[in-house]
Amino acid sequence: MTSKNFHWTQQAFEHNARAGILHTAHGSVPTPTFMPVGTVGTVKAMTMDAVRSTGAGIVLGNTYHLMLRPGAELVHELGGLHRFMDWSGPILTDSGGFQVMSLGALRKLDEEGVAFRSHIDGSAHKLTPESSTDIQYLLDATITMCFDECPALPASYKTIANSMRMSMRWAERSKKRFKLRPGYAQFGIVQGGIEPDLRAESAETLTKIGFEGYAIGGLAVGEPQEQMFETLNFTVPFLPAEQPRYLMGVGTPQDMLGAIQRGIDMFDCVIPTRAGRTGRAYTGRGTLNIKNACHIHDQRPIDPECDCPACKKHSRAYIHHLFRTKEILGAILLTWHNLAYYQRLMRIIRQAILDQNLKEKATELQSNWKRKDWTMDEWN
Ligand SMILES: [Zn+2]
Repeated sequence: MTSKNFHWTQQAFEHNARAGILHTAHGSVPTPTFMPVGTVGTVKAMTMDAVRSTGAGIVLGNTYHLMLRPGAELVHELGGLHRFMDWSGPILTDSGGFQVMSLGALRKLDEEGVAFRSHIDGSAHKLTPESSTDIQYLLDATITMCFDECPALPASYKTIANSMRMSMRWAERSKKRFKLRPGYAQFGIVQGGIEPDLRAESAETLTKIGFEGYAIGGLAVGEPQEQMFETLNFTVPFLPAEQPRYLMGVGTPQDMLGAIQRGIDMFDCVIPTRAGRTGRAYTGRGTLNIKNACHIHDQRPIDPECDCPACKKHSRAYIHHLFRTKEILGAILLTWHNLAYYQRLMRIIRQAILDQNLKEKATELQSNWKRKDWTMDEWN
């Protein structure tokens, strides 16, 4: 494989955890990696320079939102999503499948695809494996996702099996439609709920079709963490060792650590950005709610180990004040902090894999998350 092609190289591993580099047409990204979610062409409350400053290497865009506004053709006309949103690094776009499925009564699903009405103006649209792939092409996604269906859980075995098999037929149609260019990629998505045989069948079907990477979908939809980890335990072994693995929609720091230990390389989640807008901060000592009155007089930074602008320049008291007065700077600073924490966590875990001490590091991270805040003694 030439260096111009999309590929992933492994640098180190410890048990199932892997450290590597993702090589793409838009640059290389160290893995494990967390992808901030840039829903409509913006990571909410952040400039892209700010996103870059946290160490993020790849971001995610949502096909469903971008096809409705501003429209894939317009993004294409304006030079593609990279130029449109000022992100020269790789971009992964989802297929729109997950979001149209959650439209409930507004959508109609059949073998061909999904007909739905826009949540914005009620206009009629259709997404199929072909149209989803075309839209992601127009957006100029570095990584295109297959169009798939994800049934809401709990669902019967039969419902999950039928849905997974239709997603596999859709994966084949998505692959047929995809125009592979150097440095670009298309990922298949393993479905099958929490059923070991269905996950195995899905993974085997996808690897036979052949993709540049593989995602695990249908998790982080409300199931307990142990069930998600268990599903990874029996699914990951069916995925090719030499290709990147992406766990969709996950998660909390604890979720990501456990998933990395089970062989996952890539994550995306709205948690750090959404929490940043609602006052919840992620730190090396668990979460804190900056809106709580206990921060009124607190001159300490949110996280003494963080070098983001929120922690370098401002006190908890100030950010608490911004949230109380509903100033947008509060959301900006806390989003910045949360993304900085997520990226730092990825760097810590990656370094631990390279140093072959992930097991010890994981125990340390987990016990520190449980300790909650820093004591005054530790601070001084
Ligand atoms: Zn910070």
